[in-house]
Amino acid sequence: MTLRLFNTLSGQIDELVPADGEALRMYACGPTVYDYGHIGNFRTFLQIDVLRRFLRLTGVRVRHVMNITDVDDKIIRNSAAAGIPISEYTPKYVEAFFEDLGALRVERPEQIARATEHIPQMVELIQKLAAAGAAYKTDDGSWYFRLAAFPEYGKLSKKDLSGMEDGARVDVDEYEKDSARDFALWKAAKPGETSWDTPIGRGRPGWHIECSAMSMEYLGESFDLHAGGEDLMFPHHENEIAQSESVTHKPFARHWMHVRFLLVDGKKMAKSEGNFYTLRDLLLKGYKASAIRLALISVPYRHQLNFTFDSLTEASAAIDRLRTFHERVTTGTLAAGENDEIQLAVKKARVEYMAALANDLNTAEARAPIFDLLRVSNTAIDQGGFFAGDRDVVLHVLGDFDAVFDVIEDRDEEPTRRAVEWAEKSGRRADIAPELLARQGFTDEAIKALVAERTQAKKRRDFTRADQIRKELAEKGIILEDSKDGVRWKRK
Ligand SMILES: [Zn+2]
Repeated sequence: MTLRLFNTLSGQIDELVPADGEALRMYACGPTVYDYGHIGNFRTFLQIDVLRRFLRLTGVRVRHVMNITDVDDKIIRNSAAAGIPISEYTPKYVEAFFEDLGALRVERPEQIARATEHIPQMVELIQKLAAAGAAYKTDDGSWYFRLAAFPEYGKLSKKDLSGMEDGARVDVDEYEKDSARDFALWKAAKPGETSWDTPIGRGRPGWHIECSAMSMEYLGESFDLHAGGEDLMFPHHENEIAQSESVTHKPFARHWMHVRFLLVDGKKMAKSEGNFYTLRDLLLKGYKASAIRLALISVPYRHQLNFTFDSLTEASAAIDRLRTFHERVTTGTLAAGENDEIQLAVKKARVEYMAALANDLNTAEARAPIFDLLRVSNTAIDQGGFFAGDRDVVLHVLGDFDAVFDVIEDRDEEPTRRAVEWAEKSGRRADIAPELLARQGFTDEAIKALVAERTQAKKRRDFTRADQIRKELAEKGIILEDSKDGVRWKRK
């Protein structure tokens, strides 16, 4: 099965296969580490995670490189305001970023590349651009890309650049301009700013040159896929193409994937709107990491996602259904044999699931057949028509589902605990949901002991004590489920 993925460059759906027949070489623009990541950032990283997991499920090896932008305008501004060098300012946010990715079960790329550790590669690329006549130095010692040297500029974003002014320059990393300008490759050192002494002068790299230099360092001059948020298409990705192809005269990335922005409650997320959320904000409100993951990946990457708290509640309920079903199938005592109807339903679910993902990663359509299968199987179990041979195939297809979605195994406690600890340390105790505060320090062992005590109380017909324990647990967000196999508990 081959993934058919929309390609921004060609403007159509193209097959995505490794050009070398071995591993799919892909580059994804990583974070600029000046603050905690918000859910819009994480939607992009999660959708790229869906991509790499699906590729692997279809047997494609992946070589995925992601950069960490640990020097740029914002970092320099913020670290100066904090009165510390950038090398002391960024580590906290790098660590937080990986902790958040871990909470969301986003797989680590095979290669992480930090900008500040690749200055020589950037300098070398700028020297090559200068030799090719595509870069020039200004009086202050900065270097710029000469847009007029790359007539194909605009081919990715399909922007009309007829208003392009020859020789007009822009020196900030991020800009939104209808007409393009020569952009900064290297910025001359300013007093007090972090800078490097290099053959092209003392200074620091611009943002765009980082990604060209580091992607080609690890993936070669031409590679299979470049991915990122839609906000990076122009000018960042356009500039990456210009910088790379002006030197190599080869296609830079063959395939470009852009993940759409999300809205929150129908509006663009903004601090000024009061609808701006980091992952940590949501965890502190009591939402589970798995529910956040599912809510952010369930709308296909090319569609605008309208994020709401209802969507988190819906995701949480869906995960509960999956986990309960998984446990029911795994632990139930089943007679030998097979039910033809279930066998057929499993085959259909698997085919539809894979086809939906292969069709431009349609995660919404991929979910549907799995939940259909769940309903059919639950009915069969209720009616005694579900057998050991059905269990094997059902668990197999659930495994394929989870190879991409990764929400069935319950690993939600740790991210929540870490977020609570972090909030306590960061003076944000007031933001912690009351039920999370109530169960702080309430370990699995303490819960198990209370559950056991309740069972004993019921045996000796002390229902007052048994009810007391149930109430105490409920106040701490622990739900008990009595079944014929004993008592199960879970966190709300
Ligand atoms: Zn980039």
